[in-house]
Amino acid sequence: MEPRNETEREYIGIAASPGIAHGPVSLLRQREITVPSYRIRPDRMSEEIKRFENSLIATRKQIQEIRDEVQQSLGESEARIFDAHLLVLEDQALIGETISEMESANQNVEAAVWAVGNRYIDAFGQIDDEYLRDRASDIRDVLRRLLSNLTGQSLGDGEGPGTKHVVVAHEIAPSDSACIDKDHLLGLATDIGGKTGHTVIVARSMNIPAVVGLGDISKKVSPGDVILIDGYEGRVVVNPSDATLFRYGKLKDEHKSFEERMIASSRGVSQTKDGHKIRLMANIESENEARSAIEIGADGVGLFRTEYLFLNERRLPTEEEQYQAYRKTLEILGDLPVIIRTLDLGGDKMATIPGLAMHAESNPFLGYRAIRYCLDSIELFNTQLRAILRASAHGNARMMYPMISGAAELAQANDCLERAKEELREEGLAFDEDIQVGSMIEIPSAAIACDTLVSGSSFFSIGSNDLIQYLMAVDRLNDRVAHLYEPTHPAVIRTLDMIVKAGQCGGVDVSICGETAGDPIMVPLLIGLGIESLSMSPGLLPNAKYVVQNMELQEAKDLAAMALSEPDGSVILGKLVEFYDERTASLH
Ligand code: PEP
Ligand code: MG
Repeated sequence: MEPRNETEREYIGIAASPGIAHGPVSLLRQREITVPSYRIRPDRMSEEIKRFENSLIATRKQIQEIRDEVQQSLGESEARIFDAHLLVLEDQALIGETISEMESANQNVEAAVWAVGNRYIDAFGQIDDEYLRDRASDIRDVLRRLLSNLTGQSLGDGEGPGTKHVVVAHEIAPSDSACIDKDHLLGLATDIGGKTGHTVIVARSMNIPAVVGLGDISKKVSPGDVILIDGYEGRVVVNPSDATLFRYGKLKDEHKSFEERMIASSRGVSQTKDGHKIRLMANIESENEARSAIEIGADGVGLFRTEYLFLNERRLPTEEEQYQAYRKTLEILGDLPVIIRTLDLGGDKMATIPGLAMHAESNPFLGYRAIRYCLDSIELFNTQLRAILRASAHGNARMMYPMISGAAELAQANDCLERAKEELREEGLAFDEDIQVGSMIEIPSAAIACDTLVSGSSFFSIGSNDLIQYLMAVDRLNDRVAHLYEPTHPAVIRTLDMIVKAGQCGGVDVSICGETAGDPIMVPLLIGLGIESLSMSPGLLPNAKYVVQNMELQEAKDLAAMALSEPDGSVILGKLVEFYDERTASLH
């Protein structure tokens, strides 16, 4: 790591979630703890054992506090991860062996707990069972916290609960998000990653500014540094000077008043000046986000990602647990439609539940994910389908399959659905017999042959995050090729046009739910292409609505015609930006 340097330093990355944040650095990086080793005189041993007991109590209290915070901010299922840690602290075998080790070798508690803990970690680590191997990492986490309490050394994960901070990390996987204290999170800065990674999508839905693809920012900062995140421009300033803070303070105020005026003037129905209704829906992952969707005036939920019931879990959610989660969301939305997407694990959403057979792959986005995985795990798929169907009796539920590649796969998925319906009928359990079932169009093969998907789908939902990554051969997480990820590339626009036309021809509605849908610059183009339902993070909705309310349908069609005939993606983008700037000028 570079020596601590108080002078201002600026780094450029990729603007991933808008906003400006400023606060102390909290490094999401594990720091090694030095374990002292020394002898204890036998007459001092009872004091040393007392010290061990006190550290167990203190550690237990800390973990309980973290558990409570996580439970409040993220919910019970994320909080449960800490129950396993609490159990380690109560393990009588581990405690007893540590005390025997101290007494037999006249050793201090740190050395004894380290030796015993590592024996357990090694033993569990060698077991050929993923669930038990996971116990090794629970013990490792608890051991580090115990030693940190005994030695007074910091864990290196920043200020911890209680202090607002900016998290800096090499990478944040969706499964790491449970370790982040969201109540005190000001912003995110990471070494790697792209605009459509799932952690970034979550940051955007929480209105947390984020910059990714910063190279090696995690090596260039230390806890105690102050960092400023500019999520509009993709800049990060470490130890900003007063002049920089002042400049960004003004910028933040300007953006804030722009956004406030945007929200204030975008109340009411989302329709164009000439009265053409556009459905603006929300992308959500939890009940809390379902409430935000209602507050912000969404016309429904266009994408309910269900993976988060499976991430950070120690076991698979049961049918009943899934049913309750879907039902609650449907009840929050009342009569408004909620499109529940079946499981899209894999890619950057790896779950480590024992028995789930998910393994690291060299090309995870081209691999064993989403519907491929579900069709190969029939029992797991059936459980989810039953849960969705049962929930459909309590609201306006629709469902869709992710990563459909062609008609055969769609037919297979629909067969599974029919079997699940048949089971429920036999068991006398209620569900919506006419539930609409859609296909996500996010693989080029599905886009090109989407006329063949019409007969098995009630609607199409374009997953532009994946569709663009596959069309352009640009890994959506790789910052080194992020400049090639181009939503206005003629190939992307023609593909969207093709999907819409196939949908219109076959009589199925076409909506879009990738991040492109929430980009206000893209909104007129998408509408001009004929997409009438756009689903996005709830926080992006006012801006999209403002744009809709301040344009006419014909203007959008003209933009689409321009985009379909223009060979240069950057020219298309320029014209879309010009249109947007002109429509929002009065808000500045
Ligand atoms: C998409 O690919 O556009 C999409 C909405 O799905 P996800 O981002 O979850 O892959
Ligand atoms: Mg996708």
